[in-house]
Amino acid sequence: MELLVTGGAGFIGSNYVRHVLETTDAEVTTLDALTYAGDRSSLPEHERHRFVEGDITDRALVDDLVASADQVVNFAAESHVDRSIDGATPFVRSNIEGVATLLDAAVEHGVDRFVQISTDEVYGEIESGEFTEEDRLEPRNPYAATKAGADLLARSYHVTHGVPVVITRSSNNFGPRQHPEKLIPKLIRRADAGETLPIYGDGSNVREWTYVDDNCRAVEVVRRDGAAGEIYNIGSGDERTNIEVARAVCEAVGASDELIEFVEDRPGHDQRYALETARIRDLGWRPEVAFDEGLARAVDYYLG
Ligand code: NAD
Repeated sequence: MELLVTGGAGFIGSNYVRHVLETTDAEVTTLDALTYAGDRSSLPEHERHRFVEGDITDRALVDDLVASADQVVNFAAESHVDRSIDGATPFVRSNIEGVATLLDAAVEHGVDRFVQISTDEVYGEIESGEFTEEDRLEPRNPYAATKAGADLLARSYHVTHGVPVVITRSSNNFGPRQHPEKLIPKLIRRADAGETLPIYGDGSNVREWTYVDDNCRAVEVVRRDGAAGEIYNIGSGDERTNIEVARAVCEAVGASDELIEFVEDRPGHDQRYALETARIRDLGWRPEVAFDEGLARAVDYYLG
């Protein structure tokens, strides 16, 4: 099987490529533009892996790669909410135009699976309870809005063109190979250096934290066994406030929690996300790495 993984030099994509090479005999091609967020060295040297540097909006290149692929898994995206607040244009380009380019190529050349990697942020925030896959999309920041646009586009290509699309919407991931601008790697590095740990607002925002390997296994389950046209929430069920995460990092690193400093809140900061995950659990998936264990592994990786 020839698998095209786009955005595979990023955080989740690079962990996913490693997982696929370890657990299947697929031939994997990674296409990645190596934006500021991509790192070629996150990818393994492996006889069944090749790396192509390029952009998912480049139709000629995408055509070429999709023509020789059986399946596509798309991780490529601008992914940092704060950057999307500074300006949404690169997000529209990669997260919507890029997905349209991949989908058009899938129509042209035919694929037997197209996995679109999405996010819990497309639902917006929820005060209590959990989002199901049938809930309305009410994204509240430009990043989430472009991801929601991509989901709708991908679903429409399933209905209109019969592209066998499956969509995963996962909660916050953490683990090795994440860009240092993201919360947990940033806190680990700063705590270790004895620097202040900036936390938005009063630190009460709640996120559901899923260890990256658990998400990679879930993406594989969906790629293999998901129903075409279907959406799958992926989440560990482990909810933490940002202040709890910061305190856990201090403890794991051996730093004082007096380093924690509250800073002006992000505009449109969603208070809480939480996912109902019965559908992916029905496919046999369960999270395996508890938060503290995952955090210990992340600390080893970033400080090791
Ligand atoms: P990341 O920013 O670490 O990686 C994104 C990768 O995509 C980078 O390697 C970058 O170079 C590449 N890329 C960006 N634009 C591209 C383009 N136009 N053409 C080719 N490559 C391009 O992101 P991540 O955290 O690994 O997230 C991967 C996917 O998972 C994204 O689609 C994101 O929306 C989704 N997601 C992430 C999380 C999370 O907690 N990190 C949670 C839910 C969903």
